Amino acid sequence: MFLVAPLLNRAVVVEYPVIDHTFDAVVVGAGGAGLRAAFGLAEHGLKTACISKLFPTRSHTVAAQGGINAALGNMGKDDWRWHFYDTVKGSDWLGDQDAIHYMTREAPQAVRELEHYGCPFSRTESGHIYQRPFGGQSLEYGKGGQAQRCCAVADRTGHAILHTLYGQSLRHDTNYFIEYFALDLIMEDGECRGVIALNMEDGSIHRFRSHHTVLATGGYGRAYFSCTSAHTCTGDGNAMAARAGIPLQDLEFVQFHPTGIYGAGCLITEGSRGEGGYLVNSEGERFMERYAPTAKDLASRDVVSRASTVEIREGRGVGPEKDHVYLQLSHLPPEILAERLPGISETAAIFAGVDVTKEPIPVLPTVHYNMGGVPTNFKGQVIDHRNGQDKVVKGLWSAGENAAVSVHGANRLGANSLLDLVVFGRACANFIAEEQQPNQPHKDLPANAGEASIANLDKMRYANGDLSVASVRLDMQKIMQKDAAVFRTGETLREGVVKIDGAVHKLDDLKVSDRGMIWNTDLVEGLELQNLMINAQQTMHSAQAREESRGAHSREDFPAREDEIDYTKPVEGQKPKPMKDHWRKHSLSYLTDDHGCKLDYRRVIDTTLDEKEVAWVPPVIRVY
Ligand SMILES: Cc1cc2nc3c(=O)[nH]c(=O)nc-3n(C[C@H](O)[C@H](O)[C@H](O)COP(=O)(O)OP(=O)(O)OC[C@H]3O[C@@H](n4cnc5c(N)ncnc54)[C@H](O)[C@@H]3O)c2cc1C
Repeated sequence: MFLVAPLLNRAVVVEYPVIDHTFDAVVVGAGGAGLRAAFGLAEHGLKTACISKLFPTRSHTVAAQGGINAALGNMGKDDWRWHFYDTVKGSDWLGDQDAIHYMTREAPQAVRELEHYGCPFSRTESGHIYQRPFGGQSLEYGKGGQAQRCCAVADRTGHAILHTLYGQSLRHDTNYFIEYFALDLIMEDGECRGVIALNMEDGSIHRFRSHHTVLATGGYGRAYFSCTSAHTCTGDGNAMAARAGIPLQDLEFVQFHPTGIYGAGCLITEGSRGEGGYLVNSEGERFMERYAPTAKDLASRDVVSRASTVEIREGRGVGPEKDHVYLQLSHLPPEILAERLPGISETAAIFAGVDVTKEPIPVLPTVHYNMGGVPTNFKGQVIDHRNGQDKVVKGLWSAGENAAVSVHGANRLGANSLLDLVVFGRACANFIAEEQQPNQPHKDLPANAGEASIANLDKMRYANGDLSVASVRLDMQKIMQKDAAVFRTGETLREGVVKIDGAVHKLDDLKVSDRGMIWNTDLVEGLELQNLMINAQQTMHSAQAREESRGAHSREDFPAREDEIDYTKPVEGQKPKPMKDHWRKHSLSYLTDDHGCKLDYRRVIDTTLDEKEVAWVPPVIRVY
């Protein structure tokens, strides 16, 4: 079958061959979340397709270093309820507590499952899974102490997990469509009916009709100039949802990791501080002791990133321009560095020219993770929120960094993302299997399904303006880096909104030079830029609107967290403020028809799945 790209201002009408497929379920993405969902679905007997623009083991999950949290208690006392508490606190009380309950309770089982699949975890002397200390992890229901909760495979945990999951997926009958670029969701009457994709190898277009579609396309770190994420982290799933009229949630919460290598952006895992490393300023001072007297260098990431930024601003940065700080590891025994941190030792040598056994690593807070994404409930079902009501979008699911489930709220704790991938990837598969029998009949797709996506692709392919994709992308990245940074103010955010809206309009003036359809990376990067731009724009707008500081969103003009009651001075009988008057609520951003952004808000879920297992944690001041 052929679809004709309509409305083109050219003499020749181009025809695109379209191939149709039918599946019970389609997963977009083959990182940790996508693979876990895909083989889980296949295991339940559902005919499943997994579409990925990369070969699965090239997904960004492969780069994860530090580990995956689960209260196994292999290295001392632990309890999943303490993990629950720490995650709620880490989220700065913006996380949904039912989802946090689900994730932390399932964590030990999820990690053991990985172990049984063959994941080669580092071991203790007694042969148990090795667990290292990580940021924001306490003992005794938040009363202090440092839990050792992060299960690690040296400092290459993501590599081990992704390869394990891929190995498992080959045991099951998953149908892979590799190096296929998903363009858009196919929607009908507010329901998701599948997805349309481009096979990058031969330029053919594929429509996947399915009862259930799972978005697991990862984050959008590449909206920023300096980030630890792969070049492929372009927020495609978020943008696909936005174009389908679905809101994105909490995009203003962008995590800066305190230890990206200065200049290169590559990550040095928090595990290096878990093993005893610490940050120092130009005076040789271990400055985190001043900012977080108890947790010190293992305070949560937003806290440590802000501390480094303040040190640099106040003139205590290191290097000729005093614009970064040092991560000190050379006091650690060389055998520990070789055994537990071999990957980052190598990374530091290659990208900073540093021998970690002798010298400190120059580091700087660097964009690392997107807490925001497509809103879902704890089952992974995507939520829309029209007329003030949460409503499940039928047929659409999301998991991993793509989703805002929201277990991370305003700030993710280290090693909770790998956990989120396997727990919610599996949840999507299990909950879909509960409601879907294999091989049920499908309705026909709407006659024009995918036409608008092909028209967009065709327009991009023949784009003949004045600006290269790379130059517009760089513009966008610099705007984000400058105006939606670790610290934000009303003035820079207002400026940021104007600039990013301006950058959106530059998309109309792009020039794509390659007109072919075989491995046209120029075209694909153009499409990725469109996607990044939606993420960037909504991040800036949501950040400008949020007049408080919470988690990773730190406003110099509004330094306090604005909750429904003032938890710094709780008064007996104090009534909570209505939602419009406080900020303990999720932001929702919608893409408008004129390429703008409209905001709305949604309540944070303050109930757990079972109050008898664990009660919700009311907000308190967050100190480490
Ligand atoms: C350097 C680094 C280190 C990290 N270390 C840790 C850690 O130690 N512990 C921890 O918990 N977290 C860590 N994180 C965070 C965590 O690794 C990521 O959040 C997580 O791996 C994301 O997984 P994902 O499955 O959601 O997406 P990804 O692994 O990013 O995979 C996305 C998938 O979607 C596919 N895709 C995307 N767009 C399209 C499209 N348009 N069409 C088709 N396919 C598409 C890609 O091909 C890919 O398969 C780290 C992150 C980084 C960057």
